[in-house]
Amino acid sequence: MERLQKVIAQAGITSRRKAEKLIEEGKVTVNKETVKTLGVKVNPNQDDIEVEGIPLEKEAPEYYVLYKPTGVISAASDDRGRKVVTDYIGTDKRIYPIGRLDSDTSGLILLTNDGEFANQLMHPSYRIPKTYIAKVKGLPLNQELKQLERGVKLDGKKTAPAKVKRIKSNRKKGTTVIEITIHEGRNRQVRRMFDAIGYPVDKLKRERYGMITLKGLNAGEARELTPKEVKQLH
Ligand code: URA
Repeated sequence: MERLQKVIAQAGITSRRKAEKLIEEGKVTVNKETVKTLGVKVNPNQDDIEVEGIPLEKEAPEYYVLYKPTGVISAASDDRGRKVVTDYIGTDKRIYPIGRLDSDTSGLILLTNDGEFANQLMHPSYRIPKTYIAKVKGLPLNQELKQLERGVKLDGKKTAPAKVKRIKSNRKKGTTVIEITIHEGRNRQVRRMFDAIGYPVDKLKRERYGMITLKGLNAGEARELTPKEVKQLH
């Protein structure tokens, strides 16, 4: 979110001082409502801003997939100076991540400057399958994995049906690698689901988001989505 006068000035229409004057004169609308006070914050890629009846152009949309390394924060900036996902994308556009992965989770994260697209994908009713590879401590039984598929209670609310597949168990080390596909995006959902059946996650990586995979990317690498991929997610 940014100050309205700054957004107008950045669009190259006029100076910030003149933008302030236009606002005070009632010549600027945000989502069809006149805004006369200074300091109102807007999202330039989402809000419809008009100056004297002429719409402000939104930035050309950009869409990326990043293989997030562990230890990187899913945000556009960090006040503690830690590495953030946008550091890996070479663009001058105001992009941000769609949803988040925990700092200690690696894998696939999408980024964009298209607010409508991001909101749509993050909406709970938009059930895009997301596939994770989890390495857990212990050797869960098949029936315990079935329990994950049917749903477990987190904060009093049952998780939606999931798909769970054992990849391999290592009896000697006492660890198991499991593929799990969920359609929701609750906070630390996969870790908490495994906690709920008594097998804490040691390592977590997101491998797939809808049709998008990490194919061809190493940790820390990103690429733009193809128009076809963007369309598939819409
Ligand atoms: N589930 C988690 O527990 N963590 C993530 O980062 C994503 C899903």
